[in-house]
Amino acid sequence: MAYIEPAPIKDKENPLESMMSRFDAAAKLVGISDEMYDILKVPARQVIVGLPVTMDNGAIKVFEGYRVIHSNILGPAKGGIRLDPAVHLDEVRALAAWMTWKCAVVDIPYGGAKGGIACNPREMSAGEIERLIRQYTVAMLDVIGPDRDIPAPDMGTGPREMAWIVDEYSKAKGMTVNGVVTGKPLVLGGSLGRTEATGRGVTVAALAAMDKLRMNPYRATAAVQGFGNVGSFAAELLHERGVTVVAVSDISGGYYNKNGIDITAAVNYRNTNKGTLEGFTGAEKITNEELLSLAVDVLVPAAKEDVITDDNAGSIQAKMIVEGANGPTSASADEIINSKGILVVPDILANAGGVTVSYFEWVQNRIGYKWTLDRINRRADRAMKDAFDRVFETSQKFKVPMRLAAYMVAIDKVASTYKYRGGY
Ligand code: NAD
Repeated sequence: MAYIEPAPIKDKENPLESMMSRFDAAAKLVGISDEMYDILKVPARQVIVGLPVTMDNGAIKVFEGYRVIHSNILGPAKGGIRLDPAVHLDEVRALAAWMTWKCAVVDIPYGGAKGGIACNPREMSAGEIERLIRQYTVAMLDVIGPDRDIPAPDMGTGPREMAWIVDEYSKAKGMTVNGVVTGKPLVLGGSLGRTEATGRGVTVAALAAMDKLRMNPYRATAAVQGFGNVGSFAAELLHERGVTVVAVSDISGGYYNKNGIDITAAVNYRNTNKGTLEGFTGAEKITNEELLSLAVDVLVPAAKEDVITDDNAGSIQAKMIVEGANGPTSASADEIINSKGILVVPDILANAGGVTVSYFEWVQNRIGYKWTLDRINRRADRAMKDAFDRVFETSQKFKVPMRLAAYMVAIDKVASTYKYRGGY
C-alpha cells in the first residue's frame, strides 16, 4: 500500500512548511541558484521501515520507523531518534533539515538527519522498547554508521537506547563501533559535559546577546519555559552568571518569584518529585501562557515547538528571546516579534551546544581518547560564541533578523561546499 502522508496537525503549523518559509527567505537573500535551491530543499535519503516486535504478551506488533538524511554535503549526517506516537515523515524531514542548518551554523563537519519511530514508549516495557530499538538498528544497518549517519537521543530516547544501538550495530560489524551514535553512557564512550551542553550553549548565546544589547547580566531578569534537560541547565547557568531567573515552568504550570527563583531548590525539588515542579513552593503559581508575557529581559522557551504564535506574540514583553527548544516560535509570529524590536537568538544557533558536544563525543571515539570536562566546556563555549558572532555580523551586514541571518550563514556554507564538491 502506498504511504499516505499524514495531514498537518490541526491548529498547529506544519513544521516542514514553517522551516521551509524561513529557508526560502534566506535562500533568496543569499542568492543561490534555482538548481542549488532544489538540491538543498530535497532530502538526500528518506527511509521508512516496518518493525515487527514481539510484545510481552507474545503478540507481534508492527511499528513504523523513519530515518531521513537531509544532507551529507558537509560530512556524515547527524540527528536524533524520537519515539513518539505522533511522529510522522513530515516532522522528521523538517527536523533533519534543521540539523543540517544547525551543524552548518556552528561550523561542525556534519550533515543533517533525524529518525523516529511511531510508538508510545510510556505504554511499553523496557524489554519491548529494547527489542524495538534493536529491530530499528538492524533495519537501518545500511543507513547509519560512524562515517555515514550518526544518531543521537531525542524525545523518548536516551543513553540506554544509544547503548542498545551500539551493541546491535557492533554485533553486525563484528567489532565495537561506539562512534555509531552519540549521547551514550559515559562508560561506553559518552562525553563529559554532554548532559548540560545544550543549556550551557543557550546561556553562552544569551550572554553574548546581552553584551550586544549592553545589558548587564547582574541587572537582568529571565523567564525559562520548560524545566527539563535544556531549561533547567539554562536556568541554573544563567543564575550562576548573575541573571535573576524570576520564572520557570514545566508541564505542570509556571512558577514566579519577582526576587528570583531558587534554581538549586527547584532542581532538587523536581529530582525528588517524579521529575515535575508540581507543588513547588517559594514561588507564585502562574500559567505557561503568563510566563511567556512576563516583563523580563530574557525569555528562554525551552519546552517544545510552536509555543510563541501569532496569537500571543503581541503580548511578549521580553527584550530578547533565546530559543532553547526546537521551533518554539511559529513562522507566523516572526513578523510580530521583529516589528516589536525583540532580539531573537534562533533555535538553530541557540540550542546548538548539544550537537557541538555530540560532535566532540564522536571525535573522542574516533581518536580513542577522553577529554577533560574543562577542555570540552572551553571548546564548546568558544564554538557557540564564534557562531553567535558570525550570525550577528551577518544580521548587521544585511540588516536582517538573526533568524534569517543564521539560515543565511548555514545555506551559504552548505551551498559553497557543494560547489567545491560538484555533482553530476
Ligand atoms: P525534556 O523532556 O528534558 O524537558 C521538556 C520540559 O518541557 C519538561 O520540563 C516538560 O515538563 C516541559 N513541557 C512539556 N510540555 C510543556 C508545555 N506544554 N508547557 C510547558 N512546559 C512543557 O526535553 P529537553 O531535552 O529539555 O528538550 C526541550 C526542547 O529543546 C525540545 O524542543 C528539544 O527538541 C530541544 N532541544 C533539546 C536538546 C537536548 O540536548 N536535550 C538539544 C537541542 C534542542
